[in-house]
Amino acid sequence: MTETTTLRAFAPSANVSFLKESATIAVSARARALKAQGRKVIDLGAGEPDFDTPEFIKRAAERAIDAGATKYTATEGIMPLREVIAARASARWHGDRITASEVVVSNGSKQSLFNACFTLFGEGDEVLIPTPSWTSYYEMVALSKAKPVSVIGDPQNGLKVTAAFLDAASTPRTAGVMLNSPCNPTGAVYSESELREILELADERDWWVLSDEIYRRISYGGTAASVLDLSSRRDRLIVIDGVAKAYAMTGWRIGWTIAPRAVSAAMGALQSHTTSNAAAPSQHAALEALTNVGEAEKAISVMVAEFHARRDAIVNEMAAAPRLEFVYPEGAFYLYANVATPKGGDGTAFAAALLEQHEVAIVPGAAFFTPDWVRLSYAAPREQVITGVQRLVQLYQSFGG
Ligand code: PLP
Repeated sequence: MTETTTLRAFAPSANVSFLKESATIAVSARARALKAQGRKVIDLGAGEPDFDTPEFIKRAAERAIDAGATKYTATEGIMPLREVIAARASARWHGDRITASEVVVSNGSKQSLFNACFTLFGEGDEVLIPTPSWTSYYEMVALSKAKPVSVIGDPQNGLKVTAAFLDAASTPRTAGVMLNSPCNPTGAVYSESELREILELADERDWWVLSDEIYRRISYGGTAASVLDLSSRRDRLIVIDGVAKAYAMTGWRIGWTIAPRAVSAAMGALQSHTTSNAAAPSQHAALEALTNVGEAEKAISVMVAEFHARRDAIVNEMAAAPRLEFVYPEGAFYLYANVATPKGGDGTAFAAALLEQHEVAIVPGAAFFTPDWVRLSYAAPREQVITGVQRLVQLYQSFGG
């Protein structure tokens, strides 16, 4: 007797079938393919610092491995790390001391954001997302079965939203709002008064506030505010942060949430059934980054000073094209420009032309729901950044801009 097996074609489940490949990854892949053909591509697409992790952090990880930090840890993270995160948060917060039980350490702030969305939102909920913003917010909210509601910011004010914009986009189903200052992709930083106004509205409506503060240490006009400095209540507040950007530790994958105890417990339970703890050596590396403050602050100030110098150089180059609209970058390491022209088309056509003809990789703004714009990352050597911006300006001008 012969047995025949019919192989059914794979179709992704409804859980994930709507997901799109991250546009930033698509650009990097195309840039890599061109490089493999021998083309000298300047890659200004990446969203990670071009610095190496500071030596003192790497050495701490080695010591931790030698001392046996190679096993599972508590799902929520090792206690000394959670304690230092809680202590640093407490120093910003005017109310009761924040405790380690309100901290969950995860595999990067990306997982922290996912944990928060999946734990707080569900079917029938709407979540306000100031737009443009980081592409994964929309997908994380959708994975949680809630509806991402894009709220386009004001081009006259760094593409930032105001409380009035959020109010206008809200409905009785609105359950929360995502904040990100300094912002990826625009580099805009919300002032204290702008943030306070949004927090007051959220408070009035009982919305969850998810504040992604991953770029907070990278700002050029003084320290960017944390919602912990400004909010009057914390029972609806989730602060998301991590070591990836400020400490040049993207590959170590350490992020965290600071959230009310019941929310933290639910996120910990979710994580216990998905990834368990973040890698033990990475947690010890993050602990060193947060406790060896002298070394850490030295390293951060060197990196931020270099980003600052590149920012100034870029703004200088952009002056060559007075009609080219861009958000004045006050933080993070991105430049966001409106490159649409009748001759050249939108940001997607522009980014393709810049890569194929001028060998500069940037990210089309379609990835951030603003298709006329493009994002350029200046987390790359200064001379490459300057050349990249010069070519961008030239291409814009060749399209009659
Ligand atoms: N939030 C924003 C706004 C980001 O741009 C990124 C990374 O690009 C992340 C979160 C994720 O960072 P992590 O490496 O900590 O997961």
